[in-house]
Amino acid sequence: MASADVAVVGGGVIGCAAAWYLARAGLRVDLWDRGPLGGEATAASAGILAPLAESVTPGPFVDLALAGLRAFAEDIEAVKDDSGLDPEYRRCGVLRVAVDGAAAVALHEAAGWQANARLNLRWLEPRQVATLEPGLASCHGGLLSPAEGHVHPVRLSAALAAAAYHRGAALHPFAPAVEPWMEGGRLRGLFTGGERRGYDLVVLAAGAWSAGWAAALSLRIPVRPVKGQMLIARTVAPPVRHVVFAGHSYLVPRADGTTYIGATQEEAGWDTRVTAGGIAELTAGAIAAAPALRDAEIVSAGAGLRPASVDGLPVIGAIPGCDGLIVAAGHFRNGILMCLVTGRIIAALAGGNAAPLPLEPFSPGRFAVAW
Ligand SMILES: Cc1cc2nc3c(=O)[nH]c(=O)nc-3n(C[C@H](O)[C@H](O)[C@H](O)COP(=O)(O)OP(=O)(O)OC[C@H]3O[C@@H](n4cnc5c(N)ncnc54)[C@H](O)[C@@H]3O)c2cc1C
Repeated sequence: MASADVAVVGGGVIGCAAAWYLARAGLRVDLWDRGPLGGEATAASAGILAPLAESVTPGPFVDLALAGLRAFAEDIEAVKDDSGLDPEYRRCGVLRVAVDGAAAVALHEAAGWQANARLNLRWLEPRQVATLEPGLASCHGGLLSPAEGHVHPVRLSAALAAAAYHRGAALHPFAPAVEPWMEGGRLRGLFTGGERRGYDLVVLAAGAWSAGWAAALSLRIPVRPVKGQMLIARTVAPPVRHVVFAGHSYLVPRADGTTYIGATQEEAGWDTRVTAGGIAELTAGAIAAAPALRDAEIVSAGAGLRPASVDGLPVIGAIPGCDGLIVAAGHFRNGILMCLVTGRIIAALAGGNAAPLPLEPFSPGRFAVAW
């Protein structure tokens, strides 16, 4: 017997968004996490919403990322209304700074093809960058994207969970061992706490842990953890007003006046330690970008595991040959940006409707699936 229509496994930002859209569509939803909601990659994230800064070529990635940004503009007020919480969504603009001549050439090239996105990209000469962001070191120009911005990822996932609850979803954080229940060659639901829970549909949104969960079903979803370390710094006055990308660093001005400094990208397995090398890399990059950060107080440091697929694209959709399972994983560096559009897609698929954009490039079926 189904205890609810849909189980969502994983309460990071992807699972919370899926739960909200599913509940809003009228489905009965249980959201399961083995820990706190939003406690893993989501908690470490910078919350940058920058589809163009994250895209190197035209194609399905940038299409999904742009749809992700549009979904924020369209749905964030409904998240606020349903939750009563403010996720601090800010369209403050994203500035990509050219730290040398080669970076300036690359940014001009990006500006060419990215003009198609119609986000009013604007090239700034070095003195214009200095006027816009006086706290930055001298540079070779910059590319300003006024419609991009950021959101507070922890507040966002909390708001999505509260919004899902408001719409009738049941939230189950700190659930003991949530494992698949197979019977008669098909997925029937979950085992947790020694109990069987039947569902019509299971949405697998367990971030970097999705591969292990799928492996218990003899399914191959090649998503691995990619470690990212980050810092939060406090200065007398915020060093930047825009999200700034400079070299390998980025700075995010938060609503509380602190600055998020990100982020390392490390193939380090399941290691989530904050290391001396990580802090050195982050502080060196940040001070080179905005010299006033030399005097900043480090308020906190953290690390998280980005869920990365082998081809770098998210894994979204049903798995051929496995009825009753939809995957929403592998969002790598852009799970916050893509969470709302992913939730929309999951709700469309669960309701038997067409997805809002072509899903073939993201299909779990692109990987070899062995039963
Ligand atoms: C340092 C850093 C900076 C980042 N910056 C940005 C950014 O600026 N913009 C952006 O868009 N993205 C950013 N990201 C990426 C973004 O954080 C991730 O893509 C996103 O959080 C992934 O969300 P998720 O819900 O898939 O995974 P997670 O947030 O990791 O959530 C997965 C959840 O599944 C749960 N789980 C695992 N196994 C089980 C199980 N068996 N049963 C039940 N629950 C289970 C976990 O406890 C966890 O809560 C950043 C990531 C890092 C690490």
